[in-house]
Amino acid sequence: MTHTDTLFGQPTITLRNKEYPLYPGKIHHHWEAAALRKGFDLIVRVQDRYHLALRCHTCGKLHVSKLFVVMNNQPNCPHCLNEKRRETAAAAGLKFLRQSMKNRHYGDFRAPCGHTLKRQFELVERAARTGSGFRCETCHAEREANEARERGWELIGPDPKGNPNYRLYRHAAGCGATRRIARGNMQTGRFDCEVCGQSWAAAPSQVYLMRFIHPNSGTYFKLGYSRDPASRLRYQLGLPTHVHGEILRTVPFQTGRAALCAEKAIHKRLAANFPNAVVAPERFSVSCVSAL
Ligand SMILES: [Zn+2]
Ligand SMILES: [Zn+2]
Ligand SMILES: [Zn+2]
Repeated sequence: MTHTDTLFGQPTITLRNKEYPLYPGKIHHHWEAAALRKGFDLIVRVQDRYHLALRCHTCGKLHVSKLFVVMNNQPNCPHCLNEKRRETAAAAGLKFLRQSMKNRHYGDFRAPCGHTLKRQFELVERAARTGSGFRCETCHAEREANEARERGWELIGPDPKGNPNYRLYRHAAGCGATRRIARGNMQTGRFDCEVCGQSWAAAPSQVYLMRFIHPNSGTYFKLGYSRDPASRLRYQLGLPTHVHGEILRTVPFQTGRAALCAEKAIHKRLAANFPNAVVAPERFSVSCVSAL
C-alpha cells in the first residue's frame, strides 16, 4: 500500500495511489502527542510544511492530513470512512463505489440492477436503518417507456405543465399527436386519443395466457388481455431474472372491449371451477415474487 521512493532524487511516499515528496524538518513532540490522542501515529512530514502522514490506530493504514487538522480538529481516516460506507451501503442493498468528485456529501453506488446511482450518504444511512429501498431512475424510465410502447404510445418526457402524475406521450401507433396523459391511465391503457379518436375499447387487442416458473415456489399462470402481450411479458411485468416467463397462447380480438369481456368471462369460469388455484394479487406482485 505504501512505499518510499524517490522522485527526481527526492524521497517520496505513496499514499492512496498518490505520491508525496517527504518534507524535511523537525517533527515536534506536541504534534505527535496530539495525533496519538486522536487515534493516529505521526509517521512523517510530507509535501510541504503543512502536511503530515498519519497511521490510523483502527485500521493501520496511512493517510495525509493537514497539520492544522491534527492540532485543532479530529482527523478522519479515509480508509475507515470508506469501510463504514461499504457496510452502510450493503445494509441498504447497494454497493459503495466511490465518493462523488463534485460533492463530498454524495457517493456513487451500484444498484442490484447493475446501474450506478448517485445518492447522498445521509439518505443511504437512513435507508440502511429503515430498510427503505432505492429506485433506479434508469430502470424506472425504461419501464415507463415500455408501458407506453405496449399501448402504442411513445414516452417523450415529463409533463410540460409539471404535474408529477402526468407525462408527455406521442401517439406512435396512431395519429402521431403529442399529448399529456396521466401515467396511471397509460398503465391501465383505458383511455382514448382525443386527437384521432382512437379508443382503447375499439383498438385490436389479444387475450393471453402466460406461465411463470419460479425456481423455489412453483409454477403460476396468468390470464389477461393486452395490445402487445410479448411486450407485456418482457418489459411491463418487471419479472426478476430468476423467474422464467413465457406466453402459452394468445387469441386476437377486434377490439379491446371484446378482449376485456372475454378475459373477464374466462376469469369467472376459472375462479368457479378451480377456486384453490387462485393466487392473491399481492402474492403475484413483482416485489413478492422477487422475495419468494
Ligand atoms: Zn482507519
Ligand atoms: Zn437500474
Ligand atoms: Zn391519436
